[in-house]
Amino acid sequence: MRDTFGRQVDHLRLSVTDLCDLRCRYCMGEDGVPKRRHEDILSVEECVEIGRAAVACGVKKIRLTGGEPLVRRGILDIARGLKALPGLAELCLTTNGTALAAMAGPLRAAGVDRLNISLDTLRPERYRAMTRRGELADVLAGIEAAERAGFAHIKLNAVLIGGFNDDEIGDFLALTRDRPWQVRFIELMPMGPCAGWEKDRFLPCDTVPERYPQLEPLPGEGVARLYRLPGAAGTVGLISPLSHAFCDGCRRIRVTADGRLKGCLHSREEVPLRGLRGPALEAAIRRGIAAKPQRHHLTERPSDTPRDMNEIGG
Ligand code: SAM
Ligand code: SF4
Repeated sequence: MRDTFGRQVDHLRLSVTDLCDLRCRYCMGEDGVPKRRHEDILSVEECVEIGRAAVACGVKKIRLTGGEPLVRRGILDIARGLKALPGLAELCLTTNGTALAAMAGPLRAAGVDRLNISLDTLRPERYRAMTRRGELADVLAGIEAAERAGFAHIKLNAVLIGGFNDDEIGDFLALTRDRPWQVRFIELMPMGPCAGWEKDRFLPCDTVPERYPQLEPLPGEGVARLYRLPGAAGTVGLISPLSHAFCDGCRRIRVTADGRLKGCLHSREEVPLRGLRGPALEAAIRRGIAAKPQRHHLTERPSDTPRDMNEIGG
């Protein structure tokens, strides 16, 4: 279905939990999220019914996210239920990778087609400091397990943060030399805990080709601008929501773990979906798509959403 600005909306990001085993400093507070009651979060059946209704409204691709989707009990049932939907072309999942060593095989068997794995640093000490508790070795083991399980086109997402990991750009690029991965640098968006961070933390993605002019541009893919190191097996993606906003081409809607549809990550507007089924649910999703805002205002002010990223789903 098209929104009021003529954009084809065919991607759904479905947050299956707001909980996470990590506490990335830009995403969550130290104490995590106030524990919600079990019944405040979408059930497995509700997740699948929302997926079904979204597909009926024209959605072709669903990405499971969170919080950390792999801490969600029932994640495999959700994946299986969604994968069985006729009309769904692709089921993807974004994860911090800490549980992938054990979960990659089961996720593949449950029907997940593609994985994005978030990894902001390749240095164990920094990883611990940024996530406040994670072990880099777990993520690296998870990436290997994902390859063994048959996941192709693995994407590694690194949020580019000035003074934290911009001295590792070359190390990230080097990962693409021998492996068919796409390393994607993402601009830090001012929201939640990082909304008030110093300006120099918010580095434009153009820093990457400026520092590594040997990167060769490739035709773009979705919201990412693509490059390749000469002769490399993998590619490099730049996702620049601030410096090169891609709102004009945005095809996404999002559903939060407590069942509210958002037309834009950064807007306050939400359409409650809980308690709805069948045609009533589809009508609510169509309303949400129609009301998708034209653009965000991140270059003028921090995100308008009162929610943190882990609640909405990145
Ligand atoms: N826990 C999973 C993970 O980390 O991949 C999925 C949810 S997480 C919210 C999804 C993505 O959003 C991660 O790649 C994370 O780095 C990114 N993210 C979180 N806060 C962000 C921010 N303020 N700006 C840009 N990306 C952000
Ligand atoms: Fe958890 Fe992902 Fe947020 Fe990090 S970015 S705290 S892994 S939800």
